[in-house]
Amino acid sequence: MLEATSIQAQLAGARGDRLRVLVVGAGVAGTIVAQLLRREGLHPVLVERSAREADSGYMLALMPLVDPVLDTLGVPERYLADSVGLDRYRFRNPAGTTLGEYSLAGLFERFGDYRGISRGELLGVLGSAGGAVTYGTTVTALGRRPAAVAATLDDGAAPVEAEFDLVVAADGLHSPTRGLVLDPGRVATYDTGWGGWVAWAEPDQDVDLSEELWGVGVFVGTYPVKDRLGVIVAGPRSDTEAGTERFVAGVRRRSGSVGPRIGRALDAVARSPDAYYWSLTDCRSDTWSVGRVALLGDAAAGFLPTAGIGAAMAMESAWVLGSLLADATPDGVPRRPRSLRGGPAAQGGGRPGQLPPAGPPDVLPQQGPVRAAQHRGPVHPPGDGPAPHHQAAPGAAPRQVRRYDAPLRSTMAPVRYSAPGLARKTTTRATSSGVAARLSGLWARMASPAGPWRNGAAMSVSTKPGATVVT
Ligand SMILES: Cc1cc2nc3c(=O)[nH]c(=O)nc-3n(C[C@H](O)[C@H](O)[C@H](O)COP(=O)(O)OP(=O)(O)OC[C@H]3O[C@@H](n4cnc5c(N)ncnc54)[C@H](O)[C@@H]3O)c2cc1C
Repeated sequence: MLEATSIQAQLAGARGDRLRVLVVGAGVAGTIVAQLLRREGLHPVLVERSAREADSGYMLALMPLVDPVLDTLGVPERYLADSVGLDRYRFRNPAGTTLGEYSLAGLFERFGDYRGISRGELLGVLGSAGGAVTYGTTVTALGRRPAAVAATLDDGAAPVEAEFDLVVAADGLHSPTRGLVLDPGRVATYDTGWGGWVAWAEPDQDVDLSEELWGVGVFVGTYPVKDRLGVIVAGPRSDTEAGTERFVAGVRRRSGSVGPRIGRALDAVARSPDAYYWSLTDCRSDTWSVGRVALLGDAAAGFLPTAGIGAAMAMESAWVLGSLLADATPDGVPRRPRSLRGGPAAQGGGRPGQLPPAGPPDVLPQQGPVRAAQHRGPVHPPGDGPAPHHQAAPGAAPRQVRRYDAPLRSTMAPVRYSAPGLARKTTTRATSSGVAARLSGLWARMASPAGPWRNGAAMSVSTKPGATVVT
């Protein structure tokens, strides 16, 4: 478990490091990159806006591409112990009809594990070797120095400025740190017009079964984690703004017998007026490095929660960045994050021309502090929680089909980890992108004219580049 440590103690620990690194955000990606650097004998300064270690947060289903990351961190056993295998998938329509049930076991026997874990437990696994973190702390300004970046760290008491060779912005989809180095116009977002509440329900005996309901204006997803069932109930924002109880009542009125699992999921959300509400939006920054500042995870390319891949991608990206930095020198730092261009699946490796251009060597003004953080944001529920978002969607409930051309979403290419410094870790499970391919094929079939959603609004993001997204 990470240990809460004062910012002064962390800065003192990092003082003699050959590479001084600040990691902003102790989420999935930030924790991994910090832990990997610690294994190299460094003392990265890790700061987290939340006031405490995240509680359970929400459920995550992790694709096999996380396996080599967990192996490198030396935590695969703990991961297995704190997660559950997701071997079956079932989906139904609002009439209650089961439209399909698939065993995924064969697929994952071939490619690796597909497992459900709560975000809190995952962070516990990732931080199990220990290490420092300063909670309740963020970066409020960044400024360029001749051979460093100066960061103002604010723990709510006395802001302190310190110099680093590298700042890693791993502070999630809405990354305030990204806002310090990139104009908002350089971050493309896609808003589905939908949002959903996330809650926990009691588990049932089907601990290996993910079950979903898809219908016009409603999506219900249920995903087991250890001892619990993670639930999301979503719809167009124009409908969900009515609140949990009224939205669920409307779904029930329009539905038949949805089965015990989905029924309990609806109950869990209806009973939780304070359930956390996630807007279903994604984002993509047009560059992932600005001089000595690197964007990582959702801050660089944030997926829709319904894609079910963002955490795995963030983990893989953090693993690659950590490996690239293992032998980096302060002088070489600005080149390292940029060399992610030849990197992993998460970064679109092997598909030239599909990555954002590397950022300019340094665009920060000479003197800092340069810009105050645009917002400090509410101290969150676990994860990168935006403020609850209930505004009506622009226009009607979306039902259009559109091309989703953002190439960063995933790759279909076999994963080849050929980036410099990465030779020490290759994986035979790297064909996990093939798993994503098959799943996206499944989604595509469901959304096809002959598929079960042909008359309804559905939402999903295929991980296949250039695939169709139905919203
Ligand atoms: C409901 C839901 C379900 C999902 N399901 C899946 C799934 O099944 N599978 C999957 O792979 N992905 C899933 N995702 C996506 C996944 O959660 C994200 O892609 C992943 O967490 C991104 O990791 P990250 O480290 O970049 O950001 P996060 O894990 O969001 O971490 C960012 C951290 O930065 C902190 N922070 C924010 N601002 C600041 C600041 N200014 N200063 C300091 N710290 C800051 C936040 O508190 C947070 O701890 C889901 C997401 C949601 C919301």
